[in-house]
Amino acid sequence: MPTRTISFTVDVEDHHAGLAGPQRYQAATRRLADFLAARGIRGTFFVVGDLAGEAAGLIRALAAAGHEIGCHGAHHRPLAAEDPARLGQALAAAKARLEQAAGQPVAGFRAPYFSLTPASRWAVGALAAAGFTYSSSVLPGRGPGHGFPGAPRTPFLWPEGLLEIPCPVLRLGPFALPVLGGTTMRYLPPWDFAWMRRAVARQGVGERGSEPALWTYCHPYDIDTGEPFARLPGLSLASSVALWANRGATLRRWRTLAQNPAPPLAERAGTLRAAAAPWPG
Ligand SMILES: [Zn+2]
Repeated sequence: MPTRTISFTVDVEDHHAGLAGPQRYQAATRRLADFLAARGIRGTFFVVGDLAGEAAGLIRALAAAGHEIGCHGAHHRPLAAEDPARLGQALAAAKARLEQAAGQPVAGFRAPYFSLTPASRWAVGALAAAGFTYSSSVLPGRGPGHGFPGAPRTPFLWPEGLLEIPCPVLRLGPFALPVLGGTTMRYLPPWDFAWMRRAVARQGVGERGSEPALWTYCHPYDIDTGEPFARLPGLSLASSVALWANRGATLRRWRTLAQNPAPPLAERAGTLRAAAAPWPG
């Protein structure tokens, strides 16, 4: 019986950038790091490249605590909104800035909003050119936001050489839901997460009998219960409320998942690569 351990990942971004009020994401990120440290868990923190300067101290502290630093885009924009002629260079520069702050190599990339989709498939070439060796940017199926219908749910190799570790999803009708992380996790009833891990793993068994690699994710704001409500630029009132409410649930869910932790994604990448199927497209 596989143990179905789960890696802990955080997408470090300032979702309130440009709004009034003090910056809050760094304190919330430190609380997440403290949560993991208290349980002896090392996680993967995907940081937006634009923050590498102002958050250099935070990044250095995370790396010193044994966490992996990854890249969450040069800017926090969907990949399809990027310029194909410039993305590789922009990501290489972001990677270098993050490496300088962390004092360690950056191997992994996570697309903002899981926006590696059929419309931005070209971006994989830019990721490889920038020197990333793995990505966890694909939500395999029709997601609540972005998604990549038809993409494998088990780790796979892009023809460009990059390993993809897709977001673990639960299939519900036509939808693929990222039930093990983020806003989706916050709004689920406190189901038995051991059951959910099993369901996600079993549903996603690939052609070679391998299972999805499990990871959870959240953002600093997902635990920031003290943040005053604000209508976010470009979002409806309902979406802004959904992103703001029920944040107390995140760490309750993570406490359950923390009973069975796995190492940071970069440390699993070698094993996952050896078992990965080629991209079927
Ligand atoms: Zn993000």
